Amino acid sequence: MKRVAILGGGPAGAFAAEQLSAAGLDTVVFDEKLAWEKPCGGGLTFKAYNQYPFLIENSTPKKMIGETVLAAPKAGDVTLRLRNPILIYSRFDLNRLMLERAERAGARIEQARVTEMNRCGAGWELKTKSGSLHADYCIVATGARNPLRDVGTVLTQSDAMAALGYYVPEEREQIDIQFLPNLEGYIWVFPRCGHLSVGICGKGEPAQSLRKRLEAYMIEKGISWKNGAFYSHLLPSLETASWKRNRVAGEGWMAVGDAAGLVDPITGEGLYYAIRSADLAAKALLVEISDLAGQAYRRMLRRDFAADLEFGSRLAKRVFFGRFLFGSVPARMVQFTRHSSIFRSTIEGLFDGTQPYRHLKARLLDGLKPTLLEIAVDVATYGRGLRLLGLRDRTPEWSK
Ligand SMILES: Cc1cc2nc3c(=O)[nH]c(=O)nc-3n(C[C@H](O)[C@H](O)[C@H](O)COP(=O)(O)OP(=O)(O)OC[C@H]3O[C@@H](n4cnc5c(N)ncnc54)[C@H](O)[C@@H]3O)c2cc1C
Repeated sequence: MKRVAILGGGPAGAFAAEQLSAAGLDTVVFDEKLAWEKPCGGGLTFKAYNQYPFLIENSTPKKMIGETVLAAPKAGDVTLRLRNPILIYSRFDLNRLMLERAERAGARIEQARVTEMNRCGAGWELKTKSGSLHADYCIVATGARNPLRDVGTVLTQSDAMAALGYYVPEEREQIDIQFLPNLEGYIWVFPRCGHLSVGICGKGEPAQSLRKRLEAYMIEKGISWKNGAFYSHLLPSLETASWKRNRVAGEGWMAVGDAAGLVDPITGEGLYYAIRSADLAAKALLVEISDLAGQAYRRMLRRDFAADLEFGSRLAKRVFFGRFLFGSVPARMVQFTRHSSIFRSTIEGLFDGTQPYRHLKARLLDGLKPTLLEIAVDVATYGRGLRLLGLRDRTPEWSK
């Protein structure tokens, strides 16, 4: 029996371990912290729990949120009632759920930090503080702050967003998403069981300045961080050129999840891609434990979702900084969602993960005429023209 070592026991590592050990491979997972509250919103889309029903069919505490409020400067806000709610976990609970499943499937779980991985014949010698272990193959699932320099994606500054926020002891039943001026990123408020995850992500802006923007928003919205816990982390957000040269596999190893940069460059969704990439890596490895597995994995990733995320990376700047009909794209998005059911349905598709980026432009263009007609009728009927045209500027101070 071949031994596979999995470095990192987050959602990607734990799911790869579950699949491989269930298929009979000798699987060992190393994680320095095991289940922990990894800085994260904890939101799972319909795409994730529809494809992996264990994410919803379990007794672990979680929230199902069906209402999202989208807001952008100079556009006010709009409430979306989602046909497919978002599922929200605390990351401690989600990680524990997934590690327990891996253990039940037969994986050995070790609480240890892997400090070195060295080639040893056709396999690997892995070093931890307390000793070393031989493995025939490695799955690298060490997350965005992967300390192992020779394996996994190479994250340059332009391939990552800073992400930070507070866990606030409050209850709510809706998600808030706030776009901000001149920011490739956004603020979120995600309700979890017993607390909120309130955070901000942004590319190309120092963390201190993102924190200031977030705190100004929280003051405006009356959300206090005084009794909350601060968190910060890195969110992969690969540029188009980086997708093309992304290092996801090499001799004797494959990288999954954040360690392979597999995060949606617009929404920041990473949990689904962590689980899905782990699934694909396990499938490739179960066919053959050799370098052919890495090649097969690379092809499967591309076909399955990586090509679409690369396409998304080309749209990212236009989504956050673009202009349409004399207004910013985020403002138009909020206004069109408010006035057009056709547009609203496209946005819902983006929220539940069922709208691929590569078909987005065609869908928006196809729906443009009827969308504009709906807006014209709605505006004329209800007299909301002033707000749509931005003539009554209700923009709060922090978002100017
Ligand atoms: C602030 C923030 C908010 C987010 N919100 C969302 C969201 O709402 N929805 C969503 O889908 N995605 C979200 N994401 C992205 C999501 O958190 C990640 O995509 C996801 O956690 C990736 O899973 P992973 O298993 O690849 O890595 P991780 O979850 O980071 O797990 C990596 C594991 O590796 C371990 N490790 C690291 N180095 C070593 C080592 N040398 N030896 C042993 N163990 C090691 C760590 O302890 C950790 O447990 C968010 C990210 C951030 C930063």
